[in-house]
Amino acid sequence: MIVSLIVKNILTLGILLLFGFQLSSAYTLKFNEAGKFKIVQLTDIHLGYDDEKDQKSLNVISTVLDHEKPDLVFITGDAVSGYLWDDQEQNFYASKYQKMAELLTKYQIPWALTAGNHDSEGDLTRDQISEFDRSFALSLTQQKIPELSHTFNYQLPVYDKNGESVLFRIWTVDSGEGDGCPDGFGYDCVRNDQIDWMRQELNQLPDEDPSKRRGILFMHIPIQEYMNLYNDENIYGEDGEYICCQSVNTGLFQLIQETNAVDWISSGHDHDNDYYGQYKGINMAYGRKTGYGQYGPNKLLRGARVFEISINNEYDVKTWIRQEDGSIDYQKKLSQKPFLSFSQEYCCEEIVQQQLYNFKYTIVFLIGMGYFLIDSLLQRRRQRSNFHKEKLSIMQSQVPSQQQETNSNQNISESNVTILL
Ligand SMILES: [Zn+2]
Repeated sequence: MIVSLIVKNILTLGILLLFGFQLSSAYTLKFNEAGKFKIVQLTDIHLGYDDEKDQKSLNVISTVLDHEKPDLVFITGDAVSGYLWDDQEQNFYASKYQKMAELLTKYQIPWALTAGNHDSEGDLTRDQISEFDRSFALSLTQQKIPELSHTFNYQLPVYDKNGESVLFRIWTVDSGEGDGCPDGFGYDCVRNDQIDWMRQELNQLPDEDPSKRRGILFMHIPIQEYMNLYNDENIYGEDGEYICCQSVNTGLFQLIQETNAVDWISSGHDHDNDYYGQYKGINMAYGRKTGYGQYGPNKLLRGARVFEISINNEYDVKTWIRQEDGSIDYQKKLSQKPFLSFSQEYCCEEIVQQQLYNFKYTIVFLIGMGYFLIDSLLQRRRQRSNFHKEKLSIMQSQVPSQQQETNSNQNISESNVTILL
């Protein structure tokens, strides 16, 4: 079935070529005459629940594209809820994904994909999803590098208006599936070999390369440094849930810092978070949940994060959220972080477990301390009361001897009186 869909897409490509659509220009991403390049980040669309929800999700995408007219759409995963596949339906993933791909094709906007943890839980593997996506003429998704972990690891250069030199780079590293990170409990992670690959790619760029420190890295599951951002820095936007990060910190952020690879990172995955901020000189952001499938975004409209990169005069990246009603959310600084009055140190539900764990031992410790204090107080009280009792009994035992002494004194005085008389 996938093969027939791919054949159909090749036919579509043929029709596009017949009508004069220039693929070569679509494949060279370029800044426009005004020195601007715009990316719309679609994330967590979760197609596949039912036709009505899928249509509503597609309407969100249409509204965003109508208003923004970007140069590129980057899809940061969970495009389709793979887990909804019933083990029977033929062509499940491809038929859902195709709806979105056809919409993007209608707008003639090129796109690129990185998969989320849920995409490959259905009838297609990550490699098959990549192959299917790449069968569309406007997909800029790059082929899997065979020796690397996961599937979606590539970079897309953005050239100046003449297509001569690369001024900006768009990267993605695949953050994997539901689990499987070595030594990790929780979500998957960017593996060491992917980081080595990115380092090698960066080492090949000369220091004077104009795209150095001018780039964005997209992935699905946020890295652990999002917790540092949340704990230590100002954030702009909505914080609605724990950061459900990659279960092991494999050093991606450190690589970015060391190499000046990019100045922005943007993720999806946490549907109720859409904030951004800067940590150690690197900007980190969440996309806004785009689709109607699955939970969230709580208290927010669906939409998409927009990045507008300017290279004329001064290099500058602006970001905002285009919402499903057509309005823009410029995202205010979060004056109070409502979700946690304490720092988040563990990814997603692990933190809850860890805190319950800590809480449990805190309670045991407090009870123990309480018992010790009460016991020692009672002991002191017992000792004091025993001491008083002893003192009292000593005093009581001393009273008759004193009386005897008084009596004998009286006798002496009486005898003295007798003598004197
Ligand atoms: Zn999701």
